[in-house]
Amino acid sequence: MELQALQQECMACRRCGLCETRHSVVFGQGAAHAEVMLVGEGPGANEDEQGLPFVGKSGQLLDHYLEAIDLSRDKNVYIANIVKCRPPQNRDPLPEESAACMPWLRQQFQLIRPKIVVCLGRVAAQRMLDP
Ligand code: SF4
Repeated sequence: MELQALQQECMACRRCGLCETRHSVVFGQGAAHAEVMLVGEGPGANEDEQGLPFVGKSGQLLDHYLEAIDLSRDKNVYIANIVKCRPPQNRDPLPEESAACMPWLRQQFQLIRPKIVVCLGRVAAQRMLDP
């Protein structure tokens, strides 16, 4: 399966309760065969509105830092989240929401096959490492 086909499937996902309050499914964004994959915890208000990960001021700052080390979403970075739909009031995703959404992320890893994975923040690291 191609990344685009997976995205199409994910856009209709209703595997957890976050589908009830989302505006958009924020599947991910970046190069289809990125060397570096960044994983955050979930979309915020701007991301939910635009359907893209890490937009707004923090996203611009991230892009700026990436550019400084010759990385960009256009050529060698892919950005995704543990949960693809925004948790209300930006709360941490519940364990059952992360568990429901994780298969999407696993499939993204399988298709993109990044060399380096960077967890952005506590929740992303905890869910990815599953201590
Ligand atoms: S957060 Fe993930 S599992 Fe839950 S509805 Fe959205 S895409 Fe599906």
